Amino acid sequence: MPETLLFHSDYDDAAAWSGALKGQLPDLDIVVSTQPYDPAAVRYALVWQPPMGFFAPLANLALVTNLGAGVDALVGRADLPGVPVTRICDPEMARMMASFVLMAVLRHARDVPELERARRARRWHWVNPRTAGEITVGILGLGELGARAAREVAGQGFRVKGWSRSPKRLTGIETVHGLGALDGFLADVEILVVMLPLTPQTRHVLDARRLALLPKGAKLINVARGPVVDEQALIAALRSGHMESATLDVFEAEPLPQDSPLWEMENVLITPHLASVAIPASAAAQIAENIRRLRRGEAPLFQVEPERGY
Ligand code: NDP
Repeated sequence: MPETLLFHSDYDDAAAWSGALKGQLPDLDIVVSTQPYDPAAVRYALVWQPPMGFFAPLANLALVTNLGAGVDALVGRADLPGVPVTRICDPEMARMMASFVLMAVLRHARDVPELERARRARRWHWVNPRTAGEITVGILGLGELGARAAREVAGQGFRVKGWSRSPKRLTGIETVHGLGALDGFLADVEILVVMLPLTPQTRHVLDARRLALLPKGAKLINVARGPVVDEQALIAALRSGHMESATLDVFEAEPLPQDSPLWEMENVLITPHLASVAIPASAAAQIAENIRRLRRGEAPLFQVEPERGY
């Protein structure tokens, strides 16, 4: 009997994923959760935010793959089955994220928000450009995406510092780890990039007190998850002038509510959670490799630790 992979996502293109996976594993039967299927035949689930109870009928499930890098919507669930849970760690996804982060860092470093304001007022406003080495970029989270982005930014000549949970060694990047090091880390960061997963430990890790530790005129780029930053505290810091500007791809509530004050703030660039996406053509190879590994009796790669939250 052929093995079945069950696909569920309200956002992703099921046909593109099916086609890419079929190219890798022609013997795999791929079904979409909106179509009828036999739950007993399902060995693998490729999912983004499935409804509660989704996994209950899947008695022969052997692997859950989260259709994305961030697993916060999956790992806290009471109905998560006791099988390995993996996520997408795709080099193309890391490249797309790194290019977005670099774009946002350069935009702040080259004073683009200020130039855009001047241009709207028909003002010829010359800003003395600074060299990259004069600017310190701090990256919170040095994982698959954060480490890649850190290297990309360092490659442009910025001074780059990184913070993670466990010790890291990355050439050309100053690293510290652990909550005890965070306050000191923030003190000289001009451009702060948030690349942390959302877990109970990271929720609101950037609160009003920590935002106040950043030097006056600091900029924030959040491409991870909205609730890692206390949004109300961020709005207050941007309004008071303590923080100069922000690039926000993620928010505490998405889509960003119509009545959010962020829409009115000239010093905030809003992008609708698109810094990086899982790309079927490249990520299918990783998913297929994990299925092959399971068939050989080996542990899958890129496993998530649900009790850790990422
Ligand atoms: P990883 O799991 O590979 O890396 C997470 C990093 O955060 C690690 O360096 C980890 O430390 C660090 N970290 C986790 N918890 C803590 C903590 N309590 N204190 C300090 N450091 C901590 O994740 P990725 O790099 O793949 O992705 C990061 C996040 O980006 C995702 O979780 C997701 O939410 C978001 N994302 C956003 C997208 C978008 O389009 N906006 C697209 C894709 C992802 P350590 O190395 O020690 O474990």
